[in-house]
Amino acid sequence: MKKQVLSAALIVMMVLTLCACGSSGSSGTATKGVLVMATNAEFPPYEYKEGDKIVGIDAEIAEAIAQKIGCKLEIEDIAFDSIIAEVVSGKADIGLAGMTITEDRKQSVNFSDPYATSSQVVIVQEASGIKGLSDLTEDSVIGVQIGTTGDIYCSDSFQNIERYNKGMEAVQALTQGKIDAVVIDSEPAKVFVSENAGLIILDESYTDEEYAAAIRKDNTELLEAVNKALSELKADGTLDAIVAKYISAN
Ligand code: GLN
Repeated sequence: MKKQVLSAALIVMMVLTLCACGSSGSSGTATKGVLVMATNAEFPPYEYKEGDKIVGIDAEIAEAIAQKIGCKLEIEDIAFDSIIAEVVSGKADIGLAGMTITEDRKQSVNFSDPYATSSQVVIVQEASGIKGLSDLTEDSVIGVQIGTTGDIYCSDSFQNIERYNKGMEAVQALTQGKIDAVVIDSEPAKVFVSENAGLIILDESYTDEEYAAAIRKDNTELLEAVNKALSELKADGTLDAIVAKYISAN
């Protein structure tokens, strides 16, 4: 009996430590049991707003993870290029934002096991006659979302980069003929192209990538808990069901 009480107490304590860090930040009043997720809700179908609510694949995966580790999920909507800093500072426990695992980001945060694959694709105006990557020249003006892998890769290959706060703003600039192409993740690209007439995605993609959750380096306990939750959600079909809700099979 005593043992049971003790182990129950231990479990409660573990849950509280897992969930407490994000809220112990600036205010100093740790609200226990809250998992704070930092994201940028401009990235459908992974995270976007429906009225005041943030929905999407990442929001639902985070909700499922939070349930598994016994925390309430709180989502913070901030600029994409601030997410890693938010996690490093401890203001957020987890960054989930269709975020690609990169060596550079690994210097600052740990990544969970990947939960999705993606690629950077190129959107152009159908009427432009651009059919493949080789049709883009040194003079082409490429639009990207600031701080994303699209930004990083294009900055290596092109001279004229226009950086936007939101992927959608880059797509709008493309429809207005201000830029020649947008390089962005494949699923958001499909959403944006479906919402804007006259745009196409080139068949040839730029890179292949994997998405994972970013977690503060010293929070290995949360990293392990998230990986455990993810593997259970993969095994029991929850992850596939969430993805299928937002992405229809071709
Ligand atoms: N996958 C890209 C990256 O990690 C873009 C993510 C995003 O814009 N939300 O940089």
